[in-house]
Amino acid sequence: MLRSCAKIFPKIYLRTFQARFSCCSKSSQKNNLAAVLHGIGDLRLENRPMPIIKDNQVLLQMETVGICGSDVHYLVEGRIGPFVVKNPMVIGHEASGTVLEIGKKVKTLKPGDRVAIEPGVGCRVCTFCKDGRYHLCPDMAFCATPPIDGNLCRFFAHDADFCFKLPEHLTLDEGALMEPLSVAVHSCKRANVRLGDVVLVVGAGPIGLTSLLAARAYGASAVLITDLAEHRLNKARELGADYVFKVEKNMPEEELVKEIKCLLRVDPNITIECTGEESSIRASLQVTKTGGVVVLVGLGKFDLNLPIFPLFREVDVRGIFRYNNDYPQAIEMVQSGKANVKPLITHHFAMEDTVKAFETARTGAGNPIKILIHANPVWKICE
Ligand code: NAD
Ligand code: ZN
Repeated sequence: MLRSCAKIFPKIYLRTFQARFSCCSKSSQKNNLAAVLHGIGDLRLENRPMPIIKDNQVLLQMETVGICGSDVHYLVEGRIGPFVVKNPMVIGHEASGTVLEIGKKVKTLKPGDRVAIEPGVGCRVCTFCKDGRYHLCPDMAFCATPPIDGNLCRFFAHDADFCFKLPEHLTLDEGALMEPLSVAVHSCKRANVRLGDVVLVVGAGPIGLTSLLAARAYGASAVLITDLAEHRLNKARELGADYVFKVEKNMPEEELVKEIKCLLRVDPNITIECTGEESSIRASLQVTKTGGVVVLVGLGKFDLNLPIFPLFREVDVRGIFRYNNDYPQAIEMVQSGKANVKPLITHHFAMEDTVKAFETARTGAGNPIKILIHANPVWKICE
């Protein structure tokens, strides 16, 4: 029996290949249940038309969709910066699925393949796309960034070259986590993390925790991670952080800088900032070793008051925007055993309980880290 209540793992997922394909039977093809955001606080489950694939696309049975902070932001605020939810929009972009059908020109995938879905596709013709920096494309169509629909639905059509086949031994839940892990891979590439680096990660949310995993996988010899919340630091310890530091709210920045240097015994040559908080960015700039790199991942206010002097110690500050050709490395990291994303998963919900899942994400009840929603109607958990 399908259990729709929220359950903290461990669980056993019962799926069968045949059951997955039974979802594609003619009778259910009209039923493309989707989680649609109508406005602030107004998330509804409703039927959307079945997608029709183009020649370069695949039709996917959606499987696992993670809730990202940005999804919650759209639910609570109705906007992120210039992106405003003006019309009903399907939510969700951290996802995996199973290929049901392929378009005429698709050669790389076949029905039954399980894939991680990279949610943003560039226009393919602008200078950014042509230069291979498609993530900067001004016409990027990115799932659940208004006005583009996301993929928390039963069926979804997506360009085949943005669907990455999962190795046999990776689960569809791990597949959904390739999205935040790709952000972390991109951050490490921007910082050029290498063997022997000493890395500070500021903030132990899903992005900070995946940055910790990616930095280790790229060879960092020591990683210190900070957060305000003890449960997040405990997760960081479980994931292999060498050092953790609990930041007290309103802690003077000189004290924070001193504590970090004292714990590491050296200045971190790379800092990956994953909070977007002014105080954290100020401390990141000051604590980073002369000649080092600060990567800004966390998004905060448009205007910040930041010290300029670290730049004259040749500390390079680099922002990052999502990912760009990073899914293959993210998958490789997990398939090779260099990164284990499974401990990030704290909660599972059936799609029917999407509103409850978002309420859990919004309130933080039960200390969630990564909440997964299961879109396949045959997804079951048993105790
Ligand atoms: P999250 O809110 O779950 O995690 C942020 C963590 O930072 C929390 O655990 C919080 O307790 C901690 N924190 C807050 N203030 C702190 C402080 N002063 N010192 C130490 N820790 C502190 O968010 P997330 O999903 O992990 O994402 C992190 C950030 O990255 C967000 O700002 C998000 O918008 C951003 N993001 C950016 C990109 C990009 O492309 N640049 C992509 C994805 C996410
Ligand atoms: Zn483009």
